[in-house]
Amino acid sequence: MRHWGALLVALVGAAILAIIGTTPPRPASASAPATAFSAARAMLDIRAIGHAPHPAGSAEHERVRHYLVRRLTRSGFTVTTTRSAVSAKGAKAFHKQNGASAPLPPIVDIVALRPGRNSALPAVMLMAHYDSVAGSPAAADDSAGVASALETARAIAASGQGDRDLIVLITDGEELELDGARAFFTSNPLSRHVGVIVNMETRGGGGRASMFETGADNGAMMRLFERNVDRPVATSLSVFVYKHLPNDTDLTVAKAHGFFGFNFAFIGRPSQYHSPSAVPAALDRGALQDMGRQVLDLTRGLLKAPNLPGHASDLVFFDAFGLVLVAYPVWVGWVLIGAATGLYALAGWRHATLGAAARGAVMTLALIIGGAALLYGANLVSGADGPVNYYDRLAAIPRLEWQILLICLGVFVVAWALLIADHDRIGTSVGAAVPLLILGAVAQAMAPTAAYPIVVPLLLGGAGLAAMRRANETVGRSLAVAAAMLGIGYMLAMGFLLVEAVGPFIPMIAALPLAIAAVLAVPLMPTVERRRVVVVGAAMLVLAIGIALWIRLDPVAASVATYSSFS
Ligand SMILES: [Zn+2]
Repeated sequence: MRHWGALLVALVGAAILAIIGTTPPRPASASAPATAFSAARAMLDIRAIGHAPHPAGSAEHERVRHYLVRRLTRSGFTVTTTRSAVSAKGAKAFHKQNGASAPLPPIVDIVALRPGRNSALPAVMLMAHYDSVAGSPAAADDSAGVASALETARAIAASGQGDRDLIVLITDGEELELDGARAFFTSNPLSRHVGVIVNMETRGGGGRASMFETGADNGAMMRLFERNVDRPVATSLSVFVYKHLPNDTDLTVAKAHGFFGFNFAFIGRPSQYHSPSAVPAALDRGALQDMGRQVLDLTRGLLKAPNLPGHASDLVFFDAFGLVLVAYPVWVGWVLIGAATGLYALAGWRHATLGAAARGAVMTLALIIGGAALLYGANLVSGADGPVNYYDRLAAIPRLEWQILLICLGVFVVAWALLIADHDRIGTSVGAAVPLLILGAVAQAMAPTAAYPIVVPLLLGGAGLAAMRRANETVGRSLAVAAAMLGIGYMLAMGFLLVEAVGPFIPMIAALPLAIAAVLAVPLMPTVERRRVVVVGAAMLVLAIGIALWIRLDPVAASVATYSSFS
């Protein structure tokens, strides 16, 4: 294969799949059926709650609380409010946001209960927080979560009484070191009635809503999730990554008390996080719809489950472009690695020369090590070398996405031109896969729920390559194109989300999707003049550095949190 056609088809298909996988659904209108989730209806609450800053202790905070109590009472809930004192850590956060002389507020949780047919069963609890940080209207964080809980409760009531009791806990003081959740789980007797929790958060004002955190031993929980949630967005990779990040939500407190839970969030439009610009009009209604529709499906499933899910071995799971959930036990990962290895061996058997295979392996290592080094270096150029304003770095994410994509493309084409170019495509592809097969096995042994992004694309790539070598030309080429489309598409979507989640701080993470996508692209690369390719790759790298300098030299984003500083 020496022409552009196959590569172009694969790349265009990959881009389309990545866009499908990262685009939130269309928001449902206010005239959607009463039993469905409607972002338009939820927006009415968001406009009432999230049009002005409402940090704990403010008059606006009190107004929002009264609104929520009225709103829940009218929806048939028995509502109580509970007061507790701010913790020492919470007080520190409060003074940082509101000034050292501001008097400490009480923490006032809103606890609402609507009985089901059988109140002896453990209850299902929806959780979100109504306090904002100082200076942010917080239409997203967490008015979007609160409004999703209200609209979900309304839709459930519209479909009649459920089996279990439904509790809605709207916490206070989440922005003050989770003080409201801590008060509920340590001293409210109703906490003992809770069987499972669905928490809703945001770290930005848009994008797809993902179920990104569960409790340990999530096998049964995830099977229930899979059965009940239509077009789910969830990956065991994010569960693994989040576990290693210092971030906390109210669910952190619940989990420390031994509760099972599902945590949903969206993190797109990251400049809106804790920002004065997080107003209702700026919120992505598609993100709200995405969160609400999944929470509603899941809550319905939990309310009618004869038994709530208990401890069961962790599952590996991921959504295939937000269309369907793929979930399998951890041991299946070994079968997939074995199959991928076998397919690459089949492709290379009596064909791949040692020289070609070595070139491929060196390319993969160069992409991982060289790619990570360049991603790290360019991030320093973009301003990460000195004191940074966390929120300014978040605001730079859309440009960092382009910077990182250009570095990945540039490094790939340069490494490909220098190391592979007109050498045998099948032999070099087999060699390129070898370091990743080893890495996949290491990941499978050490972090099996995070190994699928390496293992599954290699299985596809191995199948495509084996078909190219063993089946007839047309079948082989079509399979290799399909494998590249799916694998590169997944790497684009995953890379986009990883950069959104941790890109400003760990940009090197993008080297992995780069290397995996490269292994799938090599069999389809056209014959081109080497020097020209190096020039194009170098131009991409220069452009990336240009973006980095733009990020470095422009003033601090207007969107940063009012109390934020450089550190
Ligand atoms: Zn929050």
